[in-house]
Amino acid sequence: MLSSKKKYIVSGDSGIKAQIQFADQKQEFNKRPTKIGRRSLSRSISQSSTDSYSSAASYTDSSDDETSPRDKQQKNSKGSSDFCVKNIKQAEFGRREIEIAEQEMPALMALRKRAQGEKPLAGAKIVGCTHITAQTAVLMETLSALGAQCRWAACNIYSTLNEVAAALAESGFPVFAWKGESEDDFWWCIDRCVNVEGWQPNMILDDGGDLTHWIYKKYPNMFKKIKGIVEESVTGVHRLYQLSKAGKLCVPAMNVNDSVTKQKFDNLYCCRESILDGLKRTTDMMFGGKQVVVCGYGEVGKGCCAALKAMGSIVYVTEIDPICALQACMDGFRLVKLNEVIRQVDIVITCTGNKNVVTREHLDRMKNSCIVCNMGHSNTEIDVASLRTPELTWERVRSQVDHVIWPDGKRIVLLAEGRLLNLSCSTVPTFVLSITATTQALALIELYNAPEGRYKQDVYLLPKKMDEYVASLHLPTFDAHLTELTDEQAKYLGLNKNGPFKPNYYR
Ligand code: NAD
Repeated sequence: MLSSKKKYIVSGDSGIKAQIQFADQKQEFNKRPTKIGRRSLSRSISQSSTDSYSSAASYTDSSDDETSPRDKQQKNSKGSSDFCVKNIKQAEFGRREIEIAEQEMPALMALRKRAQGEKPLAGAKIVGCTHITAQTAVLMETLSALGAQCRWAACNIYSTLNEVAAALAESGFPVFAWKGESEDDFWWCIDRCVNVEGWQPNMILDDGGDLTHWIYKKYPNMFKKIKGIVEESVTGVHRLYQLSKAGKLCVPAMNVNDSVTKQKFDNLYCCRESILDGLKRTTDMMFGGKQVVVCGYGEVGKGCCAALKAMGSIVYVTEIDPICALQACMDGFRLVKLNEVIRQVDIVITCTGNKNVVTREHLDRMKNSCIVCNMGHSNTEIDVASLRTPELTWERVRSQVDHVIWPDGKRIVLLAEGRLLNLSCSTVPTFVLSITATTQALALIELYNAPEGRYKQDVYLLPKKMDEYVASLHLPTFDAHLTELTDEQAKYLGLNKNGPFKPNYYR
């Protein structure tokens, strides 16, 4: 068993044991948020607690049981009632969902195996506030296998999968969450996680910052025992940087949102996988031969273009940055101004993170049945507000699909009212969530085991070497064989044979 003074030993897939030691990697918060647009501050509960990934079908959506879980007396099969979920009897369905998720979360499963004998989180008491899905359940069960005790609430009032929450409660996890919580329920659940007799958290895992905020507001003394905060979302990270700037952050915090592996998966690969799904589910369209214009050739735009090209679409790109523009050209896309193609394209997709990229003038000139959607953070990339004028008629034809009809009968097909298409209309691949969950687990291990003084009361990025380790844990899925540096090569490049292989600034 490791004491908190020891370093956590990780062993790469090559079998070579690598000691993870990390230097200070303090980052100024000077970036614009790059993550998915489900975060914003300044509400009585943060927006991240009301927006959500659309999740796989829930067995409980159609439940007609209107009794609030708070008014129910429930026990799991071991007699514990230290939880509050919609219906404990759904545990078996939830267990199946968790088992399916495990198949696509190889790194967490590998961490469990490697931990046999060693418990890097022994003594850790983690209070968590994240989406409660099958993927989170795999993370929680991994943390528990690594020695931690966990208590959990949902960071979002809509996204809890009731049967998964039931399965966790049945396995003995104190979980306080159900789909469709009220605002009062939301804070009550968080409070039930932290305000417990005889149990005090020493680590926080947060997504959105609401849990951290609650502890700061109600139980500031708890921070005396808390060793660190791991935060996933843009909003939560932003709040932490604000606290740090104001000199009010009293424990070290790890910003996992901006780790390189996670960013690549959230932006490039997730969008490459989900753009077609989002379009297909909403419109049943065929992609071959369709003319598509993608605005912005950053990570998200590159993912969208690659997927559409592979389906035989004719893809045009717009860009403002000559470097990304040149990349688009080298990748075989026609670089155009939106005006030049707006009359002929079948689909318009925005991926810029900018505003008013598609204006009312563009919308007026689109051809009949043109599909318009957004993959960027804000819902102002397309000037949807300009379509709310008396001469245009809106027809809701499906969930998340509106036809906007001009006086001459022309209609455009607007998806998700200009909000992020994939998060509104499709699911996020479990493998993407596996990267995030593994990053969270390693950040918890690192903060929990860090020797006194390694981390101060500030916000840190996940050390590069751990970022690389997250990627390496996912390689065996592909039977991938990583080349090892020879001593001579390592010397030549000035690298440690076990990494990190890139400088901290490499993204
Ligand atoms: P990025 O900065 O790599 O790319 C954006 C690109 O848009 C840049 O190359 C920029 O030059 C270009 N651009 C800006 N204004 C433009 C304009 N008016 N016309 C044409 N091009 C313009 O960012 P990214 O990682 O690709 O993310 C893009 C957006 O998608 C962000 O808002 C991000 O938060 C969001 N995002 C969405 C998802 C998702 O799942 N849908 C995932 C991650 C990020």
